[in-house]
Amino acid sequence: MIETDIIIIGTGPVGLFTVFEAGLLKLKCHLIDSLPQPGGQCSEIYPKKPIYDIPGFPTILAGELIDNLMEQAAPFKPGFTLGEAAVSIEKQADNTFIVTGIKGTKHKAPIVMIAGGLGVFEPRKPPIENILDYEDKGVEYIIKEPDFYKDKTCVIAGGGDSALDWSIFLAEQKIAKKVILVHRNSSFRGHLDSVQKVIDLAQRGIIELITEAEVVGLSGKDALESVIIHHQKDGEIVKNTDHFIPLFGLKPSLGPIADWGLEIEKGAIKVDTLDYSTNIPGIYAIGDVNTYQNKLKLILCGFHEGTLAVQSAFSRIYPDKKNILKYTTVNGVQGF
Ligand SMILES: Cc1cc2nc3c(=O)[nH]c(=O)nc-3n(C[C@H](O)[C@H](O)[C@H](O)COP(=O)(O)OP(=O)(O)OC[C@H]3O[C@@H](n4cnc5c(N)ncnc54)[C@H](O)[C@@H]3O)c2cc1C
Repeated sequence: MIETDIIIIGTGPVGLFTVFEAGLLKLKCHLIDSLPQPGGQCSEIYPKKPIYDIPGFPTILAGELIDNLMEQAAPFKPGFTLGEAAVSIEKQADNTFIVTGIKGTKHKAPIVMIAGGLGVFEPRKPPIENILDYEDKGVEYIIKEPDFYKDKTCVIAGGGDSALDWSIFLAEQKIAKKVILVHRNSSFRGHLDSVQKVIDLAQRGIIELITEAEVVGLSGKDALESVIIHHQKDGEIVKNTDHFIPLFGLKPSLGPIADWGLEIEKGAIKVDTLDYSTNIPGIYAIGDVNTYQNKLKLILCGFHEGTLAVQSAFSRIYPDKKNILKYTTVNGVQGF
């Protein structure tokens, strides 16, 4: 059991800055994230993009902002449970909460701050009836380790950068034995360079390209053995394959948090702007995951929300102690 003062669900910019603000009040934090690295959207979606509206930084790359926030939080020694989604919460008789991760890791604290952003990223799955039967038996939605596909036949589906880039990589590096790229349109959404490269590889017979077609069925005894493709002009085509990899992107969803008894409005958690508390005393929601009148999904607004939420958390944990605001210029940063 990991015990702390504040459990923060989400290591996006808002969760990370909240560690710093909590630390100034001598409150210790432990963060949980389903992703394997900290940084939320900044690390996962746009690490190399410059951000122009972080106060004091005319421009900063999203990835650099996360590095800086990690450095700023470091004196307060936050704990991390990464690569594990928080799936359940239980209130104890002593008013503390136990938050359990999908791998069974348990965390206990009197305060929970949900900084879950857009939620857990889940793959968009094609509407094939028996697809669940073949998950991890030939069907994957993310390519984690290219060598997993060594000398295998792979049917990749999709028309964006992911589908194009992985098709090129697995075929050009001669990792897969055969790559078949299936896309429902005749044009692609990916970068023009990648589209041109796929067309060139297809003309040279290195990739088999099937456009205006969709994978509509899967079959195989104990594992995937073949896919059924519906072609708009040619009708049904069957291809023997070891893997079917639909790369249709990731969609965020509030996930298990939606079932925790919190008041939800349009996929976000309703909060009181007094202190960003939710309808469950002791649970706060900050950053992109919350909603209130005039809400702006901006990093700087999330920083403000986390700052006010930890002040309120302090009063809940120490109802008899008075907290006097001290400037960092006066007090410095006294780490743990
Ligand atoms: C392309 C792009 C450009 C942007 N540009 C700007 C900009 O210029 N300026 C600006 O201010 N904002 C910008 N934004 C928005 C900004 O990125 C978000 O406002 C910010 O990331 C919100 O931070 P957060 O910490 O609330 O959540 P997030 O960054 O979304 O992080 C939330 C984290 O919570 C995790 N999580 C969710 N549910 C669970 C769970 N159940 N268990 C464990 N972990 C969970 C997620 O995995 C994620 O890592 C941009 C967004 C995008 C996509």
